[in-house]
Amino acid sequence: MVHARPRFAARTRLLAALGLVALVVGGVETPGVQADSAAQPGNAFGSSSVSTERLGGADQYAVAVAISQRLFPAGGAPVVYLAGGQNFADALAAGPIAAHEGGAILYTGSSALPDAVGQELVRLAPARVEVLGGTSVIGAAVVDQVTALLAPATVVERVAGADAAGTAAALSAVAFAPHAATTVFVTGSGSAQDAVAAGPAAAQLGGPLLLVAPTSLPAATAAELTRLAPDRVVIVGATSAVSDAVSAAIDAIVPLVERVTGADAYATAGAVATRFFSAAATDVIAGGPGYANGLAAVPLAANRHAPILFFGPEDMLATPTRDWLVATHPSRIVIAGSVSEVVRAQMVGFSDGRLPVPPATPAYPSYDSGYHDPGEMLTLIRATELAYPTLVHVFSMGKSYEGRDIWAAKISDNVSVEENEPEVLIDTLHHADEHLGVEQALYMLATLTSQYATDAYVRRLVNERVVWIVFAMNPDGWAYDLSGGKYHFWRKNRQPYGGYYGTDINRNYGYKWACCSGSSGNPSAYNFRGPTVWSTPEARLLRDFVASRVIGGVQLIKTHVTLHTNGELILYPDGWSKATYPPDITADDHAVFVYMARNMSRMNGYRPMKSSSLYVTDGDEIDWLYHQYRIFSFTFELYPVDQPTLTAMVYPPYSIVAAQTARNRGALLYLIDAAGCPWAIIGKAAQYCPTGTPIPPPSGLLG
Ligand SMILES: [Zn+2]
Repeated sequence: MVHARPRFAARTRLLAALGLVALVVGGVETPGVQADSAAQPGNAFGSSSVSTERLGGADQYAVAVAISQRLFPAGGAPVVYLAGGQNFADALAAGPIAAHEGGAILYTGSSALPDAVGQELVRLAPARVEVLGGTSVIGAAVVDQVTALLAPATVVERVAGADAAGTAAALSAVAFAPHAATTVFVTGSGSAQDAVAAGPAAAQLGGPLLLVAPTSLPAATAAELTRLAPDRVVIVGATSAVSDAVSAAIDAIVPLVERVTGADAYATAGAVATRFFSAAATDVIAGGPGYANGLAAVPLAANRHAPILFFGPEDMLATPTRDWLVATHPSRIVIAGSVSEVVRAQMVGFSDGRLPVPPATPAYPSYDSGYHDPGEMLTLIRATELAYPTLVHVFSMGKSYEGRDIWAAKISDNVSVEENEPEVLIDTLHHADEHLGVEQALYMLATLTSQYATDAYVRRLVNERVVWIVFAMNPDGWAYDLSGGKYHFWRKNRQPYGGYYGTDINRNYGYKWACCSGSSGNPSAYNFRGPTVWSTPEARLLRDFVASRVIGGVQLIKTHVTLHTNGELILYPDGWSKATYPPDITADDHAVFVYMARNMSRMNGYRPMKSSSLYVTDGDEIDWLYHQYRIFSFTFELYPVDQPTLTAMVYPPYSIVAAQTARNRGALLYLIDAAGCPWAIIGKAAQYCPTGTPIPPPSGLLG
């Protein structure tokens, strides 16, 4: 099975680059090698003391080629390890071996060699190619292709054990003589991320990586450990991947066994970095949710004496990686694979100190940890500002009753300039348990920034409007709702009155407050309106902020939406009267409300209705915004329409967030667009927006 010559190569590690590097690994995206500085409009990473370099590509084949090009800029690799691009099991242990031998790792398809990989093989012109795994992983046709491409003297050989552990043992047997390695690393054969994390450490200590099953020590691994006779084995990973029984079996062969692990793969990578890479070794290499890019990056990380950390699958940098960057503040980060601008901003900002670690805040229960808790929300909006400084300005609107900041962002081109453009206000989380609203607001922040360079409609709106987003009107209630790791079904703020906590902020506004049985005077009620109008600091801050947008006698905010849950509804004023036609809204304005609501409903499938048709409310935000400033103000009641249980209705699972926030993209962009002149929708732009209406919004009822 094993066609490996007993050939104990001398250690030929390349000279490490001077300077500081860390490596973080990810998916796929940007082709080729990129030195980042102005990858996106509005991006100002060049001002940082931390440089990032992306080794990206359209897929894992291209990423591995980009890494190889970075490691061997002039070609001339002595050996290439060719692994199956769809089946990485036989490649798990290749990283430390490739590092030891001074080689590169490339991927291939099982039946055909991708062109770009063939070109890279030719460029590298290796003396030897090790094909990893059996013919089911990499077929004979691929070996023939490789042989045909390279010089006749090139050795092309296959290394394959009976399984991944066998291949790892065979690789080790090729590269290391008995007693040549004092430390051997071991991970579970099914735990690829652990293998990625262990790879640079094994290379750093000059040893191989061997694999085990979760509950058994494979014979090939035991035999190789016996042959190598190292002083120490380092197990990387949890007992679910390498059980204590397996650890004990290793201990019977090797004098010293230690385990390095964390709560998850991210934490394990952080623990490996902390254990084996001193703070002075500040080159970092970053990897993402997938492990293919990380495996290919092990030789580069070894070359830089850098650990490999993972950035995470979505928009938040994994906390253990954040903590490593904060602790070591690397000056250079190499990113293998694709990463969003906001995650890159987090890597840079935590490394150079421009992003503070947020104060500890209550977190979502583990089953809903995808939701952004208050600290994550703050990090994300600050990272977005860092990534797009010409488009985003983050500020606190002021302090809640308990002294928490109410965070907001201004989004526009030339964001630092007052441009007298039509303005739009989006706010969320008046009601503390309506968490989906925060996700919707973050979705819009991401849409308006990350799509600015690529989407002409988004770009026009950002250029010609000012969008204000208030991310959580009720931070005190939110913190309480999340406290203790469980939900509390808490709606109000946390201001005490009459022996009870909390006022319903959305019944505390100053239009027809307490007029019409649309709120409660009982402080124990869920919709307690407060002892006096404007008694909540949160409503007052919103009031004062909106007042501050009156410039030259003109209220610049033209349209508004407040995001609530649930019901899949679009509500428009008024809330206080049951009349079909509101008594204190002009016929034209009422028509604008109806048309806008209908148009938005055609985009998101929500049901449009007058607010009081749901139930009567008094002292609410949208009635006040319209009557005080004639702002076309809406309430969105987000997903779901209904659910069989109260918990599912109030707290929908994170799995629905991506689809349900994307669902509102068109409607919310339309709301932003319509701010140009809302009356244009009823064909009366000339009458209501006579001069200086450079931007006609969509007109008429959409088809
Ligand atoms: Zn609500």
